[in-house]
Amino acid sequence: VFATIVRAPEDPILGVTVAYNKDPSPNKLNLGVGAYRTEEGKPLILNVVRRAEQLLVNDQSRVKEYLPIVGLADFNKESAKLIFGADSPAIQENRVTTVQGLSGTGSLRVGAEFLARHYHQHTIYIPQPTWGNHPKIFTVAGLSVKTYRYYDPATLGLDIQGFLEDLGDAPSGAIVLLHACAHNPTGVDPTLEQWEQIRQLMRSKALLPFFDSAYQGFASGSLDADAQSVRMFVADGGECLAAQSYAKNMGLYGERVGALSIVCKTADVASRVESQLKLVIRPMYSNPPLHGASIVATILKDRDMFNEWTLELKAMADRIISMRQQLFDALCARGTPGDWSHIIKQIGMFTFTGLNREQVTFMTEEYHIYMTSDGRISMAGLSSRTVPQLADAIHAAVTR
Ligand code: PMP
Repeated sequence: VFATIVRAPEDPILGVTVAYNKDPSPNKLNLGVGAYRTEEGKPLILNVVRRAEQLLVNDQSRVKEYLPIVGLADFNKESAKLIFGADSPAIQENRVTTVQGLSGTGSLRVGAEFLARHYHQHTIYIPQPTWGNHPKIFTVAGLSVKTYRYYDPATLGLDIQGFLEDLGDAPSGAIVLLHACAHNPTGVDPTLEQWEQIRQLMRSKALLPFFDSAYQGFASGSLDADAQSVRMFVADGGECLAAQSYAKNMGLYGERVGALSIVCKTADVASRVESQLKLVIRPMYSNPPLHGASIVATILKDRDMFNEWTLELKAMADRIISMRQQLFDALCARGTPGDWSHIIKQIGMFTFTGLNREQVTFMTEEYHIYMTSDGRISMAGLSSRTVPQLADAIHAAVTR
């Protein structure tokens, strides 16, 4: 009965790793996947995560019972405090409902499903370009996806004018997906002044902000700085949604830990929203997994562990920032034609190099360097040892 099924294409991002794995070259370099690597090129388990896991394992009173539909209560409470700020009036006034999600993706998906069922506007605007999974997540939930201008290839920076024009043309009430920080794939974020312009325009048109926060603390090294955009929108008393992921900032990728928060106007509305979120979640996966959320809650609740986490987080962010500088310096040293200052200006895990599809193909074929075809490279996959190899490849690609 399945004989006529056609083969689906590889996922454009995860497919890069599939191709990388097939390459027998000992010098191959995978800059496609968005996962942190140490200077030695190894995945990293944070020390504080190991400590939390040890505590959990040693605690004989712990059981493996199901969590409630909305997940672990302490985890949800701490997650809201992390993104909105511990002293957020919205939290104090009980206007926020937070549910545990299957990392960032699952949290976005639950939010999308909730909006499709209960929100009057079914159009969502996402930036052009954006993380490749965004359009798919919102489309399968039944929302209609449109784009707003975001990135200007001419300046390799933000197209704030296009951004504001497109939001200005959006129908009243439309949903707008915003990257809280470290925009993927461009690494280009609005300044605080630009965020304020965006906020004013969105509030004046009653556009509904849906924040995707996949890199809090990972971009600048500061958890508070990376949440400023979200906090500006919450401070004005209006509604918003926020999907959080602990994949990058705690290195919990495969544990699938995240949260969806919906900020409402009153506590009563928030509790009704939560009752409906449960109806979304129950038939999807019943209730979320216990282990990863327990790790996060253990760390966020304990001042000492929290502090240790912030130091380890900053060390990851700093290593990435130093890779940017090293790559920039290496290209300058080679006299590679072009202005490469965007490499040090962009923030977060990725650099949007500006290399085109042919140049990317050339670098893969000749230098065994793997990246997405839009020229996005993961800075977290680089090390001092591999920077020269990448700089040589870029130099060769642009001087060919
Ligand atoms: N949003 C953005 C912008 C991302 O880059 C990612 C990770 N690549 C995610 C969401 C979700 O990742 P996860 O589901 O692993 O938390």
